[in-house]
Amino acid sequence: MNLIANHPCTKCDNPAVIFQPYSGMYLCKEHLIDDITRKVKRDLRKYNLQPGTIAVALSGGKDSSVLLHLLHKIFAPSRKIKIIAITIDEGISGYREKTIENAKNLASDLEIPHTIVSFKDAFGRTLNDLMKESGRPPCSVCGALRKNLLNKTAKQLGAGYLAIGHNLDDEAQTILINHLRGDIGRLVRLSHVGGRVQPGLVPRIKPLRHVPEGEVVAYAGAAGLSVCPKACPYMDEAYRLGVRIFLREFEDQHPGTRHGIVRGFDRMIGALGDAYPPASLVPCRVCREPCTDGLCQACKMLGRDS
Ligand code: SF4
Repeated sequence: MNLIANHPCTKCDNPAVIFQPYSGMYLCKEHLIDDITRKVKRDLRKYNLQPGTIAVALSGGKDSSVLLHLLHKIFAPSRKIKIIAITIDEGISGYREKTIENAKNLASDLEIPHTIVSFKDAFGRTLNDLMKESGRPPCSVCGALRKNLLNKTAKQLGAGYLAIGHNLDDEAQTILINHLRGDIGRLVRLSHVGGRVQPGLVPRIKPLRHVPEGEVVAYAGAAGLSVCPKACPYMDEAYRLGVRIFLREFEDQHPGTRHGIVRGFDRMIGALGDAYPPASLVPCRVCREPCTDGLCQACKMLGRDS
């Protein structure tokens, strides 16, 4: 059953494009965009952003494209905050070409400075090459290398913040996964995103943290953004996929579950105070990027441990 067929927007007489079960509201295109923009502005205020540059990690997928579009809209009138975009080309043939094209087009349309850096240039190998020689899960390798290259590039470009397009579903899944694995260290480190200054690390912000994935997709449609429907061929995180399916079904039965998980996490972190401070960081002895034990994850993945 299509819940929104012929239903008017709760705030005006225009046809609704989405129903929010957790709020009970039907929203038309315009009011959906207003609602998401308001939520993103509210989250941005929490980061107490200082004047400077925000680098958006722009893969060209739906989340990062919507994030860039929103941040451009919010900060275009500001002289204090400049938006730039960084795209990482991991070298995933048959997939990344299309999203990079989307990223280039969007940055060009919005007249945003755009830098593309590749695994091949930075590490000498594409993700495709690395997968032929490594038995490690693709997303672990890709995630570690991308994090390293994004941070390094953001620093080189003088960015004060690195914005990433994690939406509400991503955030709730990640919190739940860390609970299920009993990984308290990793769980608590999630709270260190956002403005805490650590040597060598560009603070990361997640302005879409309270926007459900379905609404990100609807925003992309309402704003006319081009979104690649293909999924990464390496997407293999069976554990995350299981949690994703479970959460989606639970959210259908109990609207507001994802919000509850994120809200509960924030309250728990607030109650912990400084009991779990961020880990002390030192420069990696090979690439000089910050890490906890002298050799960063990216260099470990690349076997650069001499
Ligand atoms: Fe990289 Fe995994 Fe994302 Fe593909 S799905 S881009 S391999 S992290």
